Amino acid sequence: MPVSICVKSGVRAEMIDITGPVREMVRQAGAKDGLCFVYVPHTTAGVTINEGADPDVCKDILDRLEFLVPRNAGYRHAEGNADSHIKASLMGSSVTVLVEKGSLVLGTWQKIFLCEFDGPRTRKVFVAFR
Ligand code: ZN
Repeated sequence: MPVSICVKSGVRAEMIDITGPVREMVRQAGAKDGLCFVYVPHTTAGVTINEGADPDVCKDILDRLEFLVPRNAGYRHAEGNADSHIKASLMGSSVTVLVEKGSLVLGTWQKIFLCEFDGPRTRKVFVAFR
């Protein structure tokens, strides 16, 4: 069974840096060399890896997603959050990161982000090692 963390979002759409908690789980698991899988079991939230140095990058991603997939655009889905489902699929539900000598192998500017598209709510993120 994979371990998981809970992440609380504060607004409807945001990207939350979860690199620190994932790194800590890798450390606690005693993972050495292998793969770290980060998986979000939700249909209106996703996960992605992108730049974490300049917060404007995440703002630009969220703004562009909103432009491409506006909240109200005559969708069929009766729950009223069709845009959230579409954005979650665009981001994807998992990422894989190499683990080398117990550390996540990320580029200098890369961070792992939970992508919330129907918040605020509490999300679960599974992390597994192989
Ligand atoms: Zn829905």
